[in-house]
Order: sequence, then structure tokens, then C-alpha cells
Amino acid sequence: MTTSAKQPYPPIFTARSYDFIPYAPARNWIGGAWCDGTSGTEAVTNPRYGRVMGDVHLSGAGDVARAVDAAKAAFPGWRDTPLKERVQVLYRLKHLMEENLEELVWLVSHENGKVRAQAEGSVLKAIECIEMGCSLPNMVPGGHIDVSRGINCRVDHVPLGVCAGVTPFNFPIMVPFWMLPQVLVSGNCFILKPSEQVPYGAVKLAALFHEAGLPPGVLNVVHGKREAVEALVDHLDVKAMGFVGSTRVARAVYERGCALGRRMLCLGSAKNHLLVVPDADIELTADTMAASFTGCSGQRCMAAAVMVAVGDVQHIIDRMAEHVRAIRLGEGMGPIISEAALDRITGLINGAEKMGASVIVDGRGAKVDGCPGAWLGPTLIDNVTPEMAAYQEEIFGPVLCIMHTDTLDEALALENSNAYGNAASIFTTRGGIARYATERFEAGMCGVNIGVPVPREPFSFGGWNWSKFGHGDLTGEDGFRFWTRPRKVTEKWATHEDETWMS
Ligand code: NAD
Repeated sequence: MTTSAKQPYPPIFTARSYDFIPYAPARNWIGGAWCDGTSGTEAVTNPRYGRVMGDVHLSGAGDVARAVDAAKAAFPGWRDTPLKERVQVLYRLKHLMEENLEELVWLVSHENGKVRAQAEGSVLKAIECIEMGCSLPNMVPGGHIDVSRGINCRVDHVPLGVCAGVTPFNFPIMVPFWMLPQVLVSGNCFILKPSEQVPYGAVKLAALFHEAGLPPGVLNVVHGKREAVEALVDHLDVKAMGFVGSTRVARAVYERGCALGRRMLCLGSAKNHLLVVPDADIELTADTMAASFTGCSGQRCMAAAVMVAVGDVQHIIDRMAEHVRAIRLGEGMGPIISEAALDRITGLINGAEKMGASVIVDGRGAKVDGCPGAWLGPTLIDNVTPEMAAYQEEIFGPVLCIMHTDTLDEALALENSNAYGNAASIFTTRGGIARYATERFEAGMCGVNIGVPVPREPFSFGGWNWSKFGHGDLTGEDGFRFWTRPRKVTEKWATHEDETWMS
């Protein structure tokens, strides 16, 4: 069933508090019209209440093929629209997102579970990505030089055509904006496949892009799960794909796409090590460390996962535990995305405890009055060892593993030996130690006295090792390069009457 974009869909999401409200089904946006997916529907759960707030339409190969056709049809017009005109859509979108900030923030909070302040932070970060997109015309003009008398060489960065992006549950609006500004400003048409657990952010984005004047078919949203993702990867007209999610899926999607000759960049899981040396500032370190692993309930790929205590830093651990115990569940920290995720995380805590670790702050069994969702209080596990699954696997919850080493070199060896490489940080008051560590981390995003070392725009976002499959980064100027290909043009023109075309 297809309806005209003029009908009142999507309805305004009216929540302005955590109070539960249901919402409309999440539908596909293809070629400038809302339509239903053909692979059934699935419930979308508000994690705070563990209660169904709506349904998401699931898509199969036929739906994906329709989205690709719509994108292909829109491509020539969008490609031929001047860059400076294309970017005007982003200026209008930024204003629309600011005007609709409250609605977007509460939508993120309800579908993902984030507390209001953290939902707002994520939408504001998405807006910062739009600002980066607005500056692209000033950052990326191609170069040209006269390589010989009368002969000029230039490079044009031309769009690829139809591109696609697949995004995870933890940042329903922000992560799509790691791709959208660059992919659209560079003249491509795009198909976004958001997480089926949080489909509403993408529905709202499609509506706002439409209001901002993006022509039909330039952006399409197809909901679904593995079937939809594989259909996108396999479609011969999809030229490039960005993926953000778990390493297990990122790697499988990357390998499938590469085998078919697609350009792929797939961001995966993380296990971020934060090193603390005895000279670290007590208050800054304790506060920052606590905020890093509890923010967004630890469901961030940049969250602290492991605190490596170098030497005697017990005073900092004790102070951090005080900060952590003061966090009010439901107000300062939201729920886990689902009961299944909660069970998995609890299993990892139990397993570490059984193997001899001590749970010094225990969030298991936490409840919030009137909110029967999937809750886990902040949890600190001390004396974790490398054999424990809680160390080896990404926990993706408000759980910090504390490990101990005698020296900084041992701490660095531990960080270096873990398979992932998204982020790493050092807490110290000495510049020499900070430099020594940052030069040796095996991570793409490093910090000094920073708990969540996300590079702000225009610096690009992306990890190393098993946290990213593919070359370059998705955001920043790298993103523009990923979604374009360089065309080199060498020209010779006769400029004087006595010149011939052969001179
Ligand atoms: P996920 O891998 O389960 O899902 C991500 C996307 O892939 C979703 O859209 C989902 O529908 C799709 N998908 C799921 N299974 C699939 C399959 N078998 N084949 C094809 N597609 C499939 O991840 P998630 O649980 O939504 O998100 C959390 C994960 O994302 C964590 O591991 C986190 O570290 C990671 N993440 C990484 C970054 C980063 O920048 N590296 C950023 C955010 C999240």
C-alpha cells in the first residue's frame, strides 16, 4: 500500500516526558512516498516500560529493489544539481531539526531508552554533522594545475550513484548523520536501513528532509533486518555501503559486499581501555570514568569498558564507586535496550564473578518504580582477568571491568592485545606520560583525561582493528572521499592562432 506524502504521516510524536505513549507504524519512504514493507511487521518496544509502542514494517528484496529503482531514477537530476545548491537542503534541514528538537529528543528517548539529556546530546551531535556537511563545498573543491604548456590536469570528485547505509540501535538519529551529509552533498542517492529496534528516528528524518526540499528518491528509508541488509549488499546497482553495528555483523556484511566488488566501510564493536596512573587527578578521573561507562547506559561504542589501574590508584577507584552509587536510575541513566540484552549482560557479570572477580558496585536486579523495563544499575567489577568472557566480549551496558597492572608498559600491552581498537584514553597529570601512551595505543580515537574521546567535526570518526573493516573513516572529509571517486581530466586547448591542435 502506498500513500501520498501529503497525507499526515508521520504524525507528530507528542511525548514531552517519559510517560508512555504509543506511536504509529514505522513505514518505508521510497521515491517520495510512504509505503509498507512486504516482509511482515515487528514490535517496537519502549525499553523504559518494556512495552510495545508501535510496529515496524520489515522489507525484503522486492522492497529494496523498489528503493534502488527510485534512487536510480533520482540520481541524474541530483548529480547535475550544483554542489552549492545541493547543500542548501542541509541548511534548511538544520533549521527544521532545531525547530523540531523537542519532538526528536523525546522520540529518541522513547524508542531507545536514553534519558532526556543524553537523547538531546545525540540530536545536537547530529546537527553538528549537518553543519560539517554545509561546509563541504568550502573544503573539498578538486585541484588543478598546468602540467605542461597549454595542458591542464584536474581532479573532479564525482558521486558513485546509489549508495546505502545500515545503522545500529544505540543512536537512532546521530549515526545516520555520520553518512547522510557527505553522501548526499557529494551527489549520490541513498537508501538508509535503520535498526529495526529504533526505526522512528529515520522516519522523522525522511519527513524533515522532504520538508527541507530534498527531491523524491534522493533519500529512501527501508526498514527491516538481515533480509533487507543482504538484499542491499547483493543489489548490483548499490555502489557503496556504510555499516555501523556489531563486529560480528560488520565483518559478515563487509566480506559479502567486498566479494561482490562493492565499496564497503563497516564499523564494528569496541572494548575501550582507559588507563589510570597514580598521578591522575582524583576528581576529574573518577567523575569522567563514571560518566563514560554509565552514559547512555554504556550502550555507546566509545564508552569505557575496561579501566586499567596502573599501580596503586585505589583512591580513584573508591571515589569513582561513590560517583557511580549516586547515579539515579531512570533520571541519570536509562534502561538497557531489551530484556535479551539485559540477560546477556547479566550473564557476563555472573560469569566473571564465578571466575573470581569481585562485583564492587552491583546493578543486577535494579528496578525503577512504575517502569517495568530492562534495568541494570551501574556495575563495577574489580580484578577482572583476560580469560573472562566479560573481558573478551563487548558488554555494551553500564559495566566497567577493572584490571590491574604494575607498570604503564603492561597496561599498554594489555590494551594493544585486545582485538578491537575504537578508543583508548590515559588519565594523568604528566604530559610525557600522556604522549608516551597516545603514541602507543592500538586505537583509532585516543584521549588524554577524556572518557569518551569522540573527535568532534571536522575530524573524522573511526576505529582500528576489529572495530572497523575497510579503509578511511565515515565522517569528516574522509566520508566525502568514501562516497565519491576521483576523475582525473587532462585537457589541451589551442590558445593562440598560430597553435595547432598538435603543437
Ligand atoms: P547489530 O550488529 O546487531 O545491528 C546493526 C544493524 O545490522 C541493524 O540495522 C540490524 O538490523 C542489522 N543486522 C543485524 N543482524 C544482521 C545480520 N545477521 N545480517 C545483516 N544485517 C544485520 O548492532 P546493534 O546491536 O544494533 O548495535 C550495537 C553494536 O553497534 C555494538 O557492537 C556497538 O559497538 C556497535 N556500534 C559501533 C559504532 C562504531 O562507530 N564502531 C557505533 C555505534 C554502534
